[in-house]
Amino acid sequence: MSATQQAIRAASLSVVVPIYNEETGIDALIERLVPACEGQFDSRFEILLINDGSTDSSWQKICDHADRDSRIAGIDLSRNHGHQLALSAGLSQTIGDYVFVLDADLQDPPELLGTMLQELRSGADVAYGQRQCRRGETAFKRGTAALFYRLLGKLVETDIPRDTGDFRLMTRRVADHLLAMPERYRFVRGMVSWIGFQQVAVAYERDARFAGETHYPLRKMLALAADAVTSFSTVPLRFASHLGMLFGLVGLASLSWVGWGWLTGGTVRGWASLATLVLLLGSAQLLVLGVFGEYLGRMYMETKRRPLFMIAEVHRQPAVTALSAN
Ligand code: UDP
Ligand code: MG
Repeated sequence: MSATQQAIRAASLSVVVPIYNEETGIDALIERLVPACEGQFDSRFEILLINDGSTDSSWQKICDHADRDSRIAGIDLSRNHGHQLALSAGLSQTIGDYVFVLDADLQDPPELLGTMLQELRSGADVAYGQRQCRRGETAFKRGTAALFYRLLGKLVETDIPRDTGDFRLMTRRVADHLLAMPERYRFVRGMVSWIGFQQVAVAYERDARFAGETHYPLRKMLALAADAVTSFSTVPLRFASHLGMLFGLVGLASLSWVGWGWLTGGTVRGWASLATLVLLLGSAQLLVLGVFGEYLGRMYMETKRRPLFMIAEVHRQPAVTALSAN
């Protein structure tokens, strides 16, 4: 066996799973995830289950699994930090040569690890899951998600692939670059695309949630969308000048119309049209101010330079981890 083949065989894997109130699904997840990892890495893997301030018994379940299997570790955050930060907290603890990220609800099939690994072994740095269909999700969720990715594609210069989540396998160096990006408003899938290297799509059919309910109601989806757009684009700021020009042109047209009326002896009357114009202009100005505010607020929060997350406890068996023992 050649040296490179040996190096490949000895490669290790870290799996990151963010968990928020998933008590009903954790057992099923571990049941499918462990064999998928064993199939590719024997025992050279660690599974990091990140408890993102769950209010159910998720943490208890995580600790039970960690006690039973030394390859599983639990990381408890001090409170709910949100999916993207939980993911970043997990990434910060990984030590494997490859990092595999998936959701806890089995919407992302762990069995795809083998296919993704093949892509990485043939030269890619990132293999991301691209959804072909989404089972068990409402037409509303599918519709808004489709609209979001298409809009994002128009606004953002970074090529963020459509219909992807955070389900992906990446090399150590991509994970390290990701961790070196200090921003607070994290749209992780976009950040990974921004990093570059060779990234390939692996098509999959997204299953319905195994148990429980989505933690992405419309409010959170909108917040994620705002983070995505403001993190990767300043186009909305330019929107202000475009809107200004548009209203300038409308104003000019209106002025010539009034001027013509005056010259030809007619009178232009009507406070209603005036009021409408004032309202229109006022709303346009407020809208633009709001967009400025979004960016300004984010800049303010970034300047505080607070840590992104707080880890309350790492629960793993006291002996050396399965990975560092190798
Ligand atoms: N999640 C999290 N913190 C949150 C919300 C969600 O860690 O505040 C986790 C959740 O447990 C799941 C993943 O993020 O593993 C994706 O969430 P969900 O399945 O609810 O999103 P959807 O698939 O509906 O977009
Ligand atoms: Mg889900």
